[in-house]
Amino acid sequence: MEFSTSIKTKKLGFGLMRLPTKAGRIDHKELCRMVDAFMDAGFNYFDTAHPYMALRSEGATRKALVKRYPRESFYLVNKLTSNFILNEKQVRPFFNSQLKACGTDYFDVYLVHSVNRDNYEKFKKVKAFETCSELKKEGKIKHFGISFHDRADVLDKILSEHPEIEIVQLQFNYLDFDDPSVEGEKCYNTARKYGKDIVVMEPVKGGSLASPPDEAKKFFDELGNASYASYAIRYAAGFEGILTVLSGMGNMAMMEDNISYMRDFVPLNEKEAEAVEKARLAFRGLNLIQCTACRYCLDVCPKNIPIPDYFACLNSKKQFKGWNPEMYYKRVAAGNPAPDDCIGCGKCEKACPQHLDIRKLLKEVDKSF
Ligand code: SF4
Ligand code: SF4
Repeated sequence: MEFSTSIKTKKLGFGLMRLPTKAGRIDHKELCRMVDAFMDAGFNYFDTAHPYMALRSEGATRKALVKRYPRESFYLVNKLTSNFILNEKQVRPFFNSQLKACGTDYFDVYLVHSVNRDNYEKFKKVKAFETCSELKKEGKIKHFGISFHDRADVLDKILSEHPEIEIVQLQFNYLDFDDPSVEGEKCYNTARKYGKDIVVMEPVKGGSLASPPDEAKKFFDELGNASYASYAIRYAAGFEGILTVLSGMGNMAMMEDNISYMRDFVPLNEKEAEAVEKARLAFRGLNLIQCTACRYCLDVCPKNIPIPDYFACLNSKKQFKGWNPEMYYKRVAAGNPAPDDCIGCGKCEKACPQHLDIRKLLKEVDKSF
């Protein structure tokens, strides 16, 4: 398969946004073990960002990866996140602080983070694209791109206006493939039309596809005992032009499972692809909230409402019969603001990459519990 960048990597990347924790802190020892297992198996692509793990992912990456391995033995990705820059003058200092936090002189890939219709205008205003191009000329960025969360027409506009973009990181999984709010297939086709290398994020849709509802599970169970996540990751990795698929691995068990089938990646066969199609339809029938638990809304909610946790309660209620979602709901609600504490300011909806109608959905949660 031909790629436009010179990156040589396997089809699995380590997303450093859901790291192992112990007593509320990143479990450094466990993270080192996971990095070692990943590198030993021949993988080399790591993806961090300043806001990940409540601002602690970059530092953890420095300690577990950058300080312990020769710099040229891995690819390190970081991102320019709009929340941390108010004007053009702040872009370079922010970038320099990221180099320092990660303990490196350069990033192999630097992405303008979570671009959508609204923040694209902000990124243009602060000259994010121009600054990134300069940083590339200076050798501080090897490859430049965007991570993207919006519809295909917006992606088309951005790629036509910025031919310097080399990599597009897309939310791409079997559920979002035909989702009208994500437009996975259309965005993929748009990135391909412009000849960009594609990196997949959210292949398991924030974990939802790792534990599908019974209605979907049965199709995979008929095939054997591979994990449900394995079908989702192999599905995404099987498309032309996919450079790698990021998986946010939170523990060693997840990593070992991912390594077992991605070390020597084989695309889905006909029967497996059929099972995925059936599972997709089964998911659709349940009308679940398409929240990926990215938690971006929590950064902006003035009432600190644990929005994704409430959405998870409602999804669980729809998915798992015989399970006690009320008990989980009570646990989430204890000590936290309730769904009806929402004052309707709408800030969360502007921050949500999935474009969810959060205010309406919180009312649905309130009614259901
Ligand atoms: S609309 Fe409600 S949930 Fe959203 S940010 Fe405002 S208070 Fe929080
Ligand atoms: S509601 Fe939106 S912003 Fe909040 S966690 Fe879910 S997907 Fe992310």
